[in-house]
Amino acid sequence: MSGLPNMSAAFTAESLGLDSPAAMVQTDVLIIGAGLAGLSTALALPKSLNITVLSKAALEICSSHYAQGGIAASLDKEDSVADHIADTLIAGAGLCEANNTRRILSAGQQAVQWLCEQGVPFTQIPQEDNAKPFTKLQTADLHLTKEGGHGCRRVAHADDATGRHIMEALTIKAKNAANITISPYHEALSLLTNSANPNKQCQGAQVFDHNNQRQLTFYSHAVVLASGGMGQLFKRASAPNVCVGDGVMMAWQAGCRLANLEFIQFHPTGLAVADSSFLISEALRGEGGRLTCPQTGARFMLEIDERAELAPRDIVARAIAEQISNNGLGYVHLDVSHLPDQFLREHFPQIYQTLFNLGIDMTREPIPVAPTAHYSCGGVVTDANGVTDVTGLYAAGEVAYTGLHGANRLASNSLLECVVVGRNIAADLPRYLKALDNLDTVDVYDNLHLSATAIWTAPTLKDIQAIKLPSSPTILFNLSHCDDTDIITHDYAGKIVTELKVLMTSYMGITRNAESLEQTLIQILQWQQWLEKTRLNQSSMSTLDGTITANELTLFQLARQLQLATLVIQSAYQRYESRGGHYRQDYPYLASTPRTSVIAPLSKLREADKTGSKEGGIDWLLQPIIDNTEARVVNTVANI
Ligand SMILES: Cc1cc2nc3c(=O)[nH]c(=O)nc-3n(C[C@H](O)[C@H](O)[C@H](O)COP(=O)(O)OP(=O)(O)OC[C@H]3O[C@@H](n4cnc5c(N)ncnc54)[C@H](O)[C@@H]3O)c2cc1C
Repeated sequence: MSGLPNMSAAFTAESLGLDSPAAMVQTDVLIIGAGLAGLSTALALPKSLNITVLSKAALEICSSHYAQGGIAASLDKEDSVADHIADTLIAGAGLCEANNTRRILSAGQQAVQWLCEQGVPFTQIPQEDNAKPFTKLQTADLHLTKEGGHGCRRVAHADDATGRHIMEALTIKAKNAANITISPYHEALSLLTNSANPNKQCQGAQVFDHNNQRQLTFYSHAVVLASGGMGQLFKRASAPNVCVGDGVMMAWQAGCRLANLEFIQFHPTGLAVADSSFLISEALRGEGGRLTCPQTGARFMLEIDERAELAPRDIVARAIAEQISNNGLGYVHLDVSHLPDQFLREHFPQIYQTLFNLGIDMTREPIPVAPTAHYSCGGVVTDANGVTDVTGLYAAGEVAYTGLHGANRLASNSLLECVVVGRNIAADLPRYLKALDNLDTVDVYDNLHLSATAIWTAPTLKDIQAIKLPSSPTILFNLSHCDDTDIITHDYAGKIVTELKVLMTSYMGITRNAESLEQTLIQILQWQQWLEKTRLNQSSMSTLDGTITANELTLFQLARQLQLATLVIQSAYQRYESRGGHYRQDYPYLASTPRTSVIAPLSKLREADKTGSKEGGIDWLLQPIIDNTEARVVNTVANI
C-alpha cells in the first residue's frame, strides 16, 4: 500500500507476544461482517488495498441474505428524494437525524445503479423486446413495488428474494477480487485499540478461527464493523443467530457512543413454529388474512382498531402480544383459509411451500404467528460516512446508528443504508489512510489493548443505582443450584442465553414498564455475578497471546450478550414516553420534545485517558452503566 506508514514492520509476532507468526494476520482493511454492508464496502474500496472480510458463520447466514421485499430509492419519475425523505421522517416519529437522512436517501439512485453494475438480477419492467442483461440494467428499467409507509412505488426487488439475489451477485464479485480475502467462521472477539492516540486508534481485532479452533490477531490500518443487528437477543427473531450485537459491544468496549438502543422494531407475524425465523408477509393480511384467537376462533383486531388487521405494524404487534400474554400459547392464528386455494398458491408460493414443508397447509388451516424482533434501529453512532468515535474504526449497516431510521424504520430503507454508507466508507477510508502518514506510530505496539480485556468484571448493584430497584427482588431464573464454580459449562451458559431471550421478549419486547425492566436487570445482574465467579476458574483471555478454550469462548459470548442486554434495557428504562417502536405501559404518551438517547462511558473514558490504563482489570468501558456518575445518557438531542 503506497503512501502509508510501514506499521507492519513494527509488528512482529514477538512484539505482539504471540506464540507464532502464524497467529498474526496483517491486512490493510479488516471488515467484520460479510453481509450487504460489509461486501458493499469491500467491493467499493480501491483495488490497491488488501482487504479481509470476516463472517462469524457461513456466508449466507446473515440478514442481508434473508431480506425479501427489496431496496427503497427514489427511482420513479413521479417520485422525488424529497418525498422519500418526508416518508422516512414520518416513519421515524421525530427521531431521524435530518442531515444523515438527506445524505443517505439522496444517494439512493446511485446505490441501486451500482448494484445493477455488480450484476444483481433485479426484476425488470416487462418490455416488448427481450429483457436486458443484468449488468446493462439502468435504474429506469427496474420494476418497483410499493410498501407500507411509502407514498409511491419505490422499492426495487429481485422477485421475492431480493437479499439472496443481491448477496449472491456481490459474493461472486468479492470472491473473484484479487485484493479481497473472505474468511467465513472467523468470529471477532475484541477490537485492538492503540491508546497512544488520544482518540484511541483501531488497529485490528482479536478473532477466533472456528475452522481451526485457534485464536488469531488481525492487525490492520483500519477496521469496518459490519456485523449486523441484535435480533437474537430475543426469543423469536427474523435475523439469523449470528446477529447478537457483537459489533455494538465491540465498539462500546473500544469507546464508541451508542444511540437509540431501545428502538427494536418488531414484525407482527413471524412464524411461531419451533425456532423458525420465517416471516409471514403483511401482504397476507392485505389480501384479507384474519388474526384470530386460537381457542375461540374470534377475530380480535376488530375491537382494537377500525383498520382491524391492517392497522399499523406496532398496533398489530401489540395486540398480538397482548393476546399471547393472556392465552399462554405463545402464538395467535393468522387465518387465510377462506381465500381461494389457487390464489394463495400462486401469489404466495414461497410462504405456501415453506409452511407446507412444515406440515401446515395454509389453504385449509390457520398459521401460528407471533411478533418477532426484526430490526435494530439504534447502534454505534456514526455519520453518513460511517465514521465512529474511535479513529480508524468505521461502522455500516444494522450495527450502526446513522439516525436514518429514527424511532421506526421505514420498510426497505435498511438495505439502502448498507450500500450507501458502505460506499461512503470506501470513499472516506483512503483519505484516512493517507492521513496516517502524519501520525506518530513509533510506540504503537506498546499501547495495543484488547478492548474486551475486562469483559468479566461483574457490575455491582451500585452500577445501576440510578434505577430504583425493588427492595425484595424476585429472581425468576434462580442459579442457586448451579453456584459451584466447578460446574463450568457450555450447557449451562446455553441455558442462560435461552432464559435471557425469554426475559427480553417478555419484558423488553413490544411493551415495557419500569418494574419489569428493573426485574430483568436484577436477573441479569445475578447471571453476571455467577459468570464472574465462574471465570475465576478459567485462564485469562486478557492477553493478546491467550489461547482461548471452548468454555472461555462460551462464557465470553454470554458475558457480551448479558452486557448488551443491560445497555438495551437501560436505554428503554430512560425513555419516559412511547414513540415509534418503543411502547411504555407506564408512559403511554409521546413526549413533547423528540430526543435521541445516546449513551457513553464518559467518566470511565476520562479515567482511562488519564491512566492510559491497561493493567489492573480495566472495566471502564464495560460496566453496564446507569449510575449518573458513570456512563449515562449524555446527550439528549432534539431533532428536526
Ligand atoms: C427476514 C428479513 C427480511 C428483511 N427484509 C428486508 C427488506 O426487504 N428490505 C430491507 O431494506 N431490509 C430488510 N431487512 C433488514 C436487512 O436485511 C438488514 O438490516 C440488513 O441486511 C443488515 O445488513 P448488514 O450487512 O448490516 O448485516 P447482516 O447482513 O446481518 O450481516 C452481518 C454479518 O456480520 C457477521 N458477524 C456478526 N458478528 C460477527 C463477529 N463477531 N465476527 C465476525 N463476523 C460477525 C455475520 O456473520 C454476517 O456476515 C430484513 C431482515 C430480515 C431478517
